[in-house]
Amino acid sequence: MTAMFPADPPTILNTTDNRDFPVARVFCVGRNYAAHAREMGKDPERDPPFYFTKWSETVRNSAPSDALEIAYPPATENFHHEAELVVAIGMPGFCIAQTDALNHVCGYAVGLDMTRRDLQLEAREKGRPWDTGKNVADSCPTGRLQLVEGGAHVSTGQIQLSVNGETRQDADVSDLIWSVPEIIADLSRYYALRRGDLIYTGTPAGVGPVSPGDEISCTIAGLPDLKVRIGARAGNS
Ligand code: MN
Repeated sequence: MTAMFPADPPTILNTTDNRDFPVARVFCVGRNYAAHAREMGKDPERDPPFYFTKWSETVRNSAPSDALEIAYPPATENFHHEAELVVAIGMPGFCIAQTDALNHVCGYAVGLDMTRRDLQLEAREKGRPWDTGKNVADSCPTGRLQLVEGGAHVSTGQIQLSVNGETRQDADVSDLIWSVPEIIADLSRYYALRRGDLIYTGTPAGVGPVSPGDEISCTIAGLPDLKVRIGARAGNS
């Protein structure tokens, strides 16, 4: 059999030991920090976590260059930053027990869940899917993947995001409403998790718009930094 056309190569995340992590799928957790849920006009009581997905190709790898640039996407006037802890799945599993969940995690990274907020809020208001707001080309710039060595999992540590040097988001990963083991246990009830899956665990308060030319710096204590420059509007000169 002959392929009708060549398949696209997988999206790769570089690891801190200079290996390639082929990205399988991207899962994102909605409203997982109480202060962010409130700023989005929602009650942060512990409702069950909820998820949305993005194509793996939305992930952009920051390594080896520090000068990762993403285009300002089309069809939005309100493109928002969301700084997030990213969890990488290294072992497949279905209906994973919370107590076993971290055995399925092979690494952590700093990532962004960039969002066409105007489209997301319009969809939310109308009870429609969030795809056009969230599943946006190049919307998941992600830093290098730090592999778990000797059981060094990330459950605490300052998470910060600045735009042009001004701090916009500043919280601690320990403020997550649903912890990483809880997310993995719950998400794996709906989907058999695969090696290569990435989970963006939600963003703290302080989300806001960016403009072409802006420089985003995103850090989580103990993980490689992520720096992103917002380029020109896609399709415009
Ligand atoms: Mn998010």
